[in-house]
Amino acid sequence: MSAATPHILILGAGINGAALARELALNGLDVTVVDTRDAASGTTAYSSRLIHGGLRYLEYGEFSLVRESLAERTRLLRLAPHLVHPLRLFIPVRNRIGGLWTSARRFLRLGARPGAKEVHRGLWTVGLGLWFYDLYARDRSLPRRRAYASGAPEAIRVDAQQFRWLYSYCDAQVTYPERFTLALLEDARQIAERSGRKFRLLTYHRAILEGSLVRIAPVERLGEALDTFAPDVIVNATGPWVDQTLAGLAASSPRLIGGTKGSHFVTWHAGLRERLNGRGLYVEAADGRPVFILPLGQGTLIGTTDIPFDGDPAAAVATPRELEYLLSAVNRLFTDLRLDVADIAMHYCGVRPLPYSGPATPAAVTRRHWLEPGSAGNVPLYSLVGGKLTTCRSLAEQGTATILARLNRQPSADSRERPLPGAENYPADAAALNAEQERIARRLALPIVAIDAVWSLVGARTETILSAGGSDNDLLPGTFIPRRFAEWSIRHEWATTLDDLIERRLMLLFAPELSRACLRELAGLLAAGGRLDPTKIDAAVSATEERLATHFGKRVVV
Ligand SMILES: Cc1cc2nc3c(=O)[nH]c(=O)nc-3n(C[C@H](O)[C@H](O)[C@H](O)COP(=O)(O)OP(=O)(O)OC[C@H]3O[C@@H](n4cnc5c(N)ncnc54)[C@H](O)[C@@H]3O)c2cc1C
Repeated sequence: MSAATPHILILGAGINGAALARELALNGLDVTVVDTRDAASGTTAYSSRLIHGGLRYLEYGEFSLVRESLAERTRLLRLAPHLVHPLRLFIPVRNRIGGLWTSARRFLRLGARPGAKEVHRGLWTVGLGLWFYDLYARDRSLPRRRAYASGAPEAIRVDAQQFRWLYSYCDAQVTYPERFTLALLEDARQIAERSGRKFRLLTYHRAILEGSLVRIAPVERLGEALDTFAPDVIVNATGPWVDQTLAGLAASSPRLIGGTKGSHFVTWHAGLRERLNGRGLYVEAADGRPVFILPLGQGTLIGTTDIPFDGDPAAAVATPRELEYLLSAVNRLFTDLRLDVADIAMHYCGVRPLPYSGPATPAAVTRRHWLEPGSAGNVPLYSLVGGKLTTCRSLAEQGTATILARLNRQPSADSRERPLPGAENYPADAAALNAEQERIARRLALPIVAIDAVWSLVGARTETILSAGGSDNDLLPGTFIPRRFAEWSIRHEWATTLDDLIERRLMLLFAPELSRACLRELAGLLAAGGRLDPTKIDAAVSATEERLATHFGKRVVV
């Protein structure tokens, strides 16, 4: 490795830190990523999981952001087809012209009229927005907008008394942004390996600035030093923690982030799932705020709220009041289904890393992103403000250009046409995908559902990974995940704890039948892999059960 190669330290291994690490690696730089917890354990894991243009942002005149997001949507559908899927959404509407005036006021930045009641957006308002959306997307691979009368066989059946029409349009869904983040990090690792550069990800570590040097220490033993080096640039990609991170680096800066919390819940309600049939809904809650009702694995995901939040983002949880609000948004639409609290299988809550903007209405705060320049000691520092899942790649490209300019270099590569690991030689259509999964199932003597489950995590790498050894062909209890996949993940995917495995590697957080037996088995695999003291298996299982209950409202099968 050349001594002249700049070394970039990225704080935060969320989707944005990971995308940036990959883009910097592509441009031949050495990269160290440090996260005080696990990769993708921040806001990235608690979003609505949409790769979307942000229809609503049109009302706020964010045209360039919508255009950029739609271009990224087209790109990510192509570059990560195992993780990003097209999603048809329906917008139920009550009247023809509602909301035109309110939208126009918002667009002109006039805000709401004092005392004005929230007006529901009507057919023309929604149609106009979707006309712009289609125009900007210029994506012929996805169906364009279309209006339906309520009750039309192709439309989702909602309460026709209240909602006389539905508009349909297309966006995309990233089922597991956690896996998307891991794919970005894996790609960064592979790029660095091939080019002889340095890449490393250190989770559950902290970077401590000492003059121009950075000492990396495990969070539980901050006095130690895993390594000490002099970064050429530090990037603070810590999402809603950006201001705390600046304080920890003793970097003087005005407040950058004004986080808002957003909650979701998941339900296994069979009637709701049938009604959606793989499609989503974009609806207005009683106060006019947008709520998504989306298919997610074997269940339905409903969210979100938008409430100013100043506490520790790691401790944010959905409150009973938020869950009631979301339930009532669903029940307004499906008066015959009547979901109640008992239908909530789990919930989660995240904090949006929005730019600080004083007392503005949360929904009106810009969703744009940028790198705010500064310095920590005498090391150049950039803090990431804003950013969505959708724009992680374009943000990384722009951020890399900024950092390279600071180092008097030019970009030499970009990720615009670079598939993520798992997207190489991807089957051309659904029939080819099915045939490929059946072939792998036959070859490895595993059930097709197991191949499909692993494919949803690692795509076209499934066969190589499952062929790479492992004890046997058993599935983890109550799941379709082969035990050998979990063993591989522990060896190769920076998994340290049982929570890492459940929440961000195997995605069993979203499995209806997640059981204590499965947790035990995984804890045993962690112990066998040297990640857990074998005497602490029971304690680890109890701690995970406790976290699932308090943080996510999820009970495991005992
Ligand atoms: C409710 C909700 C819904 C959303 N829905 C969507 C959507 O549908 N589509 C979309 O595109 N976007 C959506 N977003 C936005 C998107 O999820 C976030 O903008 C994005 O995930 C931010 O990623 P990040 O990498 O910047 O931050 P994070 O994912 O929060 O990552 C920051 C990381 O920094 C680490 N960290 C903290 N402090 C330190 C430190 N001192 N040193 C090192 N590491 C540290 C944390 O552990 C964490 O892993 C939504 C957000 C919310 C809250």
